Amino acid sequence: MQMKKSLMIAGALICLASIAIAQARPFPGNDVQQIYQRLLPQIEKIPAFDHHAHPGFADDPDVDAMAAPPDFSEAVRTRADNPELIAAAKALFGYPYSDLSPEHTKWLVAKKTELKKQYPGTAYFDLILDKINTETSAANRAMMADYLDPKRFAWVFFVDSFMWPFNNQREAGRNPDEEVYIPLQEKMLHRWMQQENVSKLPARFDDYLAFIDRTLQDNKQKGGIAIKFEVAYFRPTTFSDPRRDQAEDIYDRYVSGGIPTENEYRTFQDYIFRYLILEGGRLHLPVHIHSAACIGDYFNISQSNIMNFENVLRDPRYRGTTFVMLHGGYPLEREAIWLTSMKNVYLDSSLDELVQYPSAFKDTLKMWLETFPDKITFGTDAFPYNDVLGAEESYWLGAQSARMALAAALAEMISENEITEGRALQLAHAYLHDTAVKLYEGRVH
Ligand SMILES: [Zn+2]
Repeated sequence: MQMKKSLMIAGALICLASIAIAQARPFPGNDVQQIYQRLLPQIEKIPAFDHHAHPGFADDPDVDAMAAPPDFSEAVRTRADNPELIAAAKALFGYPYSDLSPEHTKWLVAKKTELKKQYPGTAYFDLILDKINTETSAANRAMMADYLDPKRFAWVFFVDSFMWPFNNQREAGRNPDEEVYIPLQEKMLHRWMQQENVSKLPARFDDYLAFIDRTLQDNKQKGGIAIKFEVAYFRPTTFSDPRRDQAEDIYDRYVSGGIPTENEYRTFQDYIFRYLILEGGRLHLPVHIHSAACIGDYFNISQSNIMNFENVLRDPRYRGTTFVMLHGGYPLEREAIWLTSMKNVYLDSSLDELVQYPSAFKDTLKMWLETFPDKITFGTDAFPYNDVLGAEESYWLGAQSARMALAAALAEMISENEITEGRALQLAHAYLHDTAVKLYEGRVH
């Protein structure tokens, strides 16, 4: 039954936005642009929680626990010559030019330096968040920086390094990407050891696990809200289910030297991965997992895609752990949304809104909103690529793109009689802020 009311006012027909409509139709109507124009300013006013970003300055090595490999291929939109970055520089800093020539970008670098002086300490990045209407941002960093305001930036710390405690000669030698990544994992593990006053790897496996626990607890004390795996960069993401004594036996044999066989190393890592997931549940630290194709020409999509995690995500032993699958499994976002049928599994859309243009990301978001709308969260994956293309610009591009794509997806859904405008705004609040914030039990806003 069509439940539509209309009012004639001065000859104009105005539909009551909140009245539910009975049957969906397969095409948007002529009103879709108007609905979009009406929704966008309202969506821009919603203060966001950015669920995944790497805030910091380009010369700060702690913005990530790994680094970009040499000479990797970059998809076109995230290249430094994307003309949209001119719009970002104009919106954020009043950039007066319409190109990014080396001469003109000097102006941009100087302007940022001036602003940093004007907004010292934590004020500079607070200002950036204010400009894009982000209330709080996750800060997925090796360590936190004193120039990030702990009230606005919530630390998400890396735990992959606990999986690489042995001689990593073969691990690093696999390809030029791993040659960059694996030594940085060793460095990260040593930083955790320093933090916990552990001068060398404990002789006993029990003590190694206790060292992991202490690190997690201390990081939570220091403000950490979640743990993060970027393991997909370092090895295939198929995880077997070894017994504790198998992992212990491997630890005993290689803790003081020697190179484990590939099979032995993977078995040990599989145990540690599952151990960390259980600890994340026990300590109320949601588990963030990188789940998309990404940088590095040697990144193996078929061996590291999101569906490889299905046996872990659907394992009832981990029901007490909250999983946030970062980057929505891109480019397998259609499969990925069905993983969120598990009550404790969520999808974050960071990176997707940067690597895809808004027209394509709109389709992803619409498909998600039509499937499990209460299980998706907003993120940017902002990152300081260099002095010109900083975290500032990638924050802006990510936030702008996501808000536009969200307004467009919802406008189509309204026009196709799937939802009302009132419901659309509820969904917008949930995606941009509410769903993610609820996962942290009052620790973020
Ligand atoms: Zn990231």
